Amino acid sequence: MTKIVGGCLCGAVRYRAEANTKPAMTGVCHCRDCQKQTGSSFSILIAVPKGTIHFEGEPLASFETKSGDGRSVLRRFCPKCGSPIASVVEATPRLDWIKAGTLDDTSWLQPQVNMWCETAQPWINICEDIPRFPRNPPMKP
Ligand SMILES: [Zn+2]
Ligand SMILES: [Zn+2]
Repeated sequence: MTKIVGGCLCGAVRYRAEANTKPAMTGVCHCRDCQKQTGSSFSILIAVPKGTIHFEGEPLASFETKSGDGRSVLRRFCPKCGSPIASVVEATPRLDWIKAGTLDDTSWLQPQVNMWCETAQPWINICEDIPRFPRNPPMKP
């Protein structure tokens, strides 16, 4: 049974991954855009194979940002409550990204990388047991 089930703060947007979907990657992103969008210190993200997440309810709103190399990041959020739900990242066309704080059950999350550590807030103690990258980690496109 998949644990990749979640939704926004107000409940208007719900999502569910297809059965047996496993995250290709779980990462913590300390970039300034994630800080701005979440109003917090970082995003926690899971990457899943493209098309394996199904959304229900309110259609997601989107805002496009550019990553450091100029490629598109489409940040998708609930139009009613503003919860950031997902990102479509041009640099990783085979993956969809879910903002993992919106999962119904976050207890199983285990980040494998910290990225954009160069803009991490100074009070954050970044775990030294997992790889850290100053910007994006190398990813298979
Ligand atoms: Zn909502
Ligand atoms: Zn980020």
